[in-house]
Amino acid sequence: MKLHVVHIYPNEMNTYGDRGNLLVLEKRAQWHGLEPVIHYYSAGDLFPKEVDIVLGGGGQDSAQSDIQKDILRIGNKLHTLVDAGVPMLMVCGTYQLFGNRFLTVDGKEIKGIGVFDVETIGGAKRLIGNIAVETEEFGTLYGFENHSGQTRLGQDQPELGKVARGNGNNGEDKTEGARTRNAIGTYMHGPLLPNNPQLADGLIRLALQRKGATVQLKSIDDELAVRSRQNAAKRSY
Ligand code: GLN
Repeated sequence: MKLHVVHIYPNEMNTYGDRGNLLVLEKRAQWHGLEPVIHYYSAGDLFPKEVDIVLGGGGQDSAQSDIQKDILRIGNKLHTLVDAGVPMLMVCGTYQLFGNRFLTVDGKEIKGIGVFDVETIGGAKRLIGNIAVETEEFGTLYGFENHSGQTRLGQDQPELGKVARGNGNNGEDKTEGARTRNAIGTYMHGPLLPNNPQLADGLIRLALQRKGATVQLKSIDDELAVRSRQNAAKRSY
């Protein structure tokens, strides 16, 4: 069975090797006996027709500003996919653009597409360091954050999880990321999925459920990831 993975803005939005998330999904899909098909979407392209999972990475304020016009152009398309339950993982800069708006530290407004009811305001102090987040659905997630933006959730906007160590959305309210249907926004780089294979499989499982597929995921030898998680658990901020 094919699994269509769309990576949006791979060149502009790829700080800290967030492309690693794509490599993990591709590999794990293969190990589960699926046939991953990777699509790259860049500004001005036609959006791929077949979409099972969408990924987006982090980026500098300037890169976010560069893609702003294009992401607003495809905003309706992305909303339709979210409403249809397509799983998505949007990291840092793309997470902010999936919110309502980002006011940069230089006072520039970058409009977002509002998949998440969140607003981000750039602060003088960057929030940088190792982060651990407790989630209901995916257990503990380990990552690395580096952002000037401080994000606040709208009243009815669920978070992805609670910060156990680090700053998360804003360093104050202990929330991290956002979740709308199966779309996830997060500040966690790392990249995130190598250290959190349960989240990678969670995205694959959600994608298969949406397709009505009855494929059982295989048990994968995750010894290296387990060891890496043990190290991450010991790391200080
Ligand atoms: N430019 C944004 C910020 O600093 C996002 C950074 C990132 O994607 N790492 O808040």
